[in-house]
Amino acid sequence: MRGLDAMVTFRGTLADVTAQVLVVGSANADLVVAADRRPQGGQTVLGGDTEVLPGGKGANTAVAAGKLGADVALLCAVGDDANGTLLLDSLRSSGVRTDLVRVVPKPTGLAFITVTPDGENSILVSPGANHALRPDDVAGCLPGPEVVVVSMEVPLDTVEYAVNAAAAAGTTTILNLSPVAAVPAPTLAVVDVLVVNQHEAAWLLGRAEDSAVTTSELPALLELGPRAAVVTSGARGAVVVEAGGLTEIPSPSVDVVDTTGAGDAFAGALATALAQGSALADAVEDAVRVAALSVTRRGAQPSYPTVAELR
Ligand code: ADP
Repeated sequence: MRGLDAMVTFRGTLADVTAQVLVVGSANADLVVAADRRPQGGQTVLGGDTEVLPGGKGANTAVAAGKLGADVALLCAVGDDANGTLLLDSLRSSGVRTDLVRVVPKPTGLAFITVTPDGENSILVSPGANHALRPDDVAGCLPGPEVVVVSMEVPLDTVEYAVNAAAAAGTTTILNLSPVAAVPAPTLAVVDVLVVNQHEAAWLLGRAEDSAVTTSELPALLELGPRAAVVTSGARGAVVVEAGGLTEIPSPSVDVVDTTGAGDAFAGALATALAQGSALADAVEDAVRVAALSVTRRGAQPSYPTVAELR
């Protein structure tokens, strides 16, 4: 047994104990509407009822890790509104420490999500309180954690600060560069594991985001600076890119219901397995399994499996 299969659930109860995994990122309320098709420019489409679910890349990643039994804390900013409470409740009930969550006098971030019958989603984010997450907020959290996961949807200077501070503290540093953005080269150079999907990889390699990248092109990601890169490839699983070569990790075949938050489930599981001491390729195998299960259920956080479900 190794990685997530071998995990012994630990729930820290002492606020002064540093969490093993620290996630720095966004928290949003997801406003989810199912529709037969998504509206094009100038079109109006009638959809189903709106569901309000806890989401946001940072919160999703932390919840995925928490449900897998990781000792995880989330550094994020939410508003002093009902959506902020929704997020805090979801984090707590998933075993995520919330002592680093900032509550600010702004609306909680919102994500407007359309899900079509093929399980695909399209998302528009209104950042709200996420813009209040500043580099100073990160400063007090390091050193300490074994693994730090940084994702986007928060100000770029906060992302840069978090990555550099985590790397300087000797922490395993994962950058989930999603949604993809131009991160300065010196910051990418200190990342241990860069996690991107196919579209983000294409963009980073100087191509249109909707163009296809072939596996043989992926080693070029290392020229951007990270020690390793993991490229998620939807139903195909993921590819691990290391200096020693490529490892393709196929996904189990599943019935897809909703892919919302699959990449975040992947990042949370990856961080959990790395914090448990797994090698990168083994951690990615676990992450692919967790993410595959997440797409078989609706929503982001509610769809994430527990360790018991994985078994
Ligand atoms: P993102 O959600 O960030 O766009 P992907 O679509 O690559 O990223 O999905 C992330 C991970 O979720 C994949 O590596 C895979 O493990 C899992 N996944 C996504 N879609 C499917 C699918 N249709 N079938 C099985 N697993 C999937």
